[in-house]
Amino acid sequence: MKKVAIIGGGFSGTMAAVNLARLSTGPLCIQLINDKYPLGRGVAYGTKREEHLLNVAARNMSAVPDHANHFLDWLRTRVDYSDLPDPQLRETYVPRRIYGDYLRSILSNYMQPIDSHHPAEIHVIENEAVDIELNYDGCAEITLKDGETVEADRVLLATGNQPPSPVAFSDHSFSHPAYSPDPWGNWMEQIPDSKEDVIVLGTGLSMVDVFLTLSEQEWEGNIIAISHNGMIPQAHFRGIEYPDFLPPEPEKLGLEKLVELLEKHCRQLQRIGENPGIVVDRLRPHTQRIWQQFLVSEKQEFLKRYAARWNVIRHRIAQPIHQRVTEAITEGRLRVMRGRISGLREQGDKVEVALQDRSGNEQLLSGGLVVNCTGPNSGFSDTSVPLFQNLLKRGLIRPDELDMGIDVAADFAVMNAEGNPSESLFAIGPLMKGTLWETTAVPELRGQAMRVAQLLLDDVALVTPGHDYRFSVEEEHVIEYYI
Ligand SMILES: Cc1cc2nc3c(=O)[nH]c(=O)nc-3n(C[C@H](O)[C@H](O)[C@H](O)COP(=O)(O)OP(=O)(O)OC[C@H]3O[C@@H](n4cnc5c(N)ncnc54)[C@H](O)[C@@H]3O)c2cc1C
Repeated sequence: MKKVAIIGGGFSGTMAAVNLARLSTGPLCIQLINDKYPLGRGVAYGTKREEHLLNVAARNMSAVPDHANHFLDWLRTRVDYSDLPDPQLRETYVPRRIYGDYLRSILSNYMQPIDSHHPAEIHVIENEAVDIELNYDGCAEITLKDGETVEADRVLLATGNQPPSPVAFSDHSFSHPAYSPDPWGNWMEQIPDSKEDVIVLGTGLSMVDVFLTLSEQEWEGNIIAISHNGMIPQAHFRGIEYPDFLPPEPEKLGLEKLVELLEKHCRQLQRIGENPGIVVDRLRPHTQRIWQQFLVSEKQEFLKRYAARWNVIRHRIAQPIHQRVTEAITEGRLRVMRGRISGLREQGDKVEVALQDRSGNEQLLSGGLVVNCTGPNSGFSDTSVPLFQNLLKRGLIRPDELDMGIDVAADFAVMNAEGNPSESLFAIGPLMKGTLWETTAVPELRGQAMRVAQLLLDDVALVTPGHDYRFSVEEEHVIEYYI
């Protein structure tokens, strides 16, 4: 029996396994290797907290690209959503833990014993993959943390984002009972007295999660959020009819002309009192192609000058959540500060954070809890992940040209150190950030999880001719991307 191993059991790996199982026409053994975060749920949907909502409306969260209403139909099976009028259900921002239940239920469905309709089997291996060796015949041997090995004909890397980076100045070793280096870890277990100040390093989506959880605890102390730009995520808004302003092939514009065009339309939208975020939404179906056509120098320029603004406009939050954040800012419960974090120091049972403003003046803040929400590590070549350290050493992968993830070819084949596409190693998801830029949210990942499954099945000859579930990039663009 052919064997495919998938490393990573968050959204990407789980849905790749499900697509392999549902599309396979012959016996196939799918080995889903997952560690650290809950199977099926991964980092995003592993939260148990009710206040952590999806940041994409339910209508656009189907896990499968060929059933646009799949998530909505599943939600209807739950008593709490069964009676909601359709327009309301479509626009709901559901708790992320419920989305995790959805993913687990799809996975469970395909973990049933093999029958003639589903000749593939999914085996879950709960362990960390730390190394991969390719044999002369292209077969892979994956080494797990406990020394056990797993053999496979093909391996798919679906490991998600790199772990959170240590704050710029500090080494990996800063530790203190009042410091949480990972916003997706168990910082709730470190929570101090509710009168203490909490300092959040970062002002993005994870900061919002921390703020919401503290608010649910009726936090009485200050919550202070710090970042370079002091920008908080914007709210989703109702779109308007706005003429399609992009040329037929926007990827041919280049960065300078594209920025000119976008700024012109942002100004126009601001003049008529509308949200300039519409411009970013309109670009979404083209973003990956535009990114791929940019010169390296254009990508670097984009990262330096525009990425921070882009991220704030692009990764929006539900309106009621945004309202809670802005109310807390107005009432002084949440302070958002701009500056560079220049030091973390132990201060008895607290942590002192040194903050430098633009003129170099230093301010010292003291927190009963400090949570690092500065986001995943972005420099791939100095990865702290044993699997990637080993793959780099073996020359089986190489960082992409921006060092944001790994270099991956158009058919998801991983490029080795010599720049040749692998016949055995594939990758999807946030690992492809430098290759695609837009590769973090479900609307992109569900397409990748399906296309990679089709490619792998073709590869191991398990899609019979005439049994065509092909789903092209072009078709995917027809699906509603606007969130
Ligand atoms: C807090 C948060 C909220 C989000 N909300 C939304 C949202 O509302 N809508 C949306 O579209 N997107 C959202 N996203 C984006 C999100 O990244 C994707 O939707 C998706 O969850 C990414 O899934 P993934 O499988 O690629 O990565 P992950 O969820 O990170 O899963 C990767 C899994 O692989 C495991 N793993 C990694 N390395 C190894 C190894 N060596 N061995 C074994 N296992 C390994 C990890 O432990 C993890 O379980 C959110 C992201 C975050 C962080």
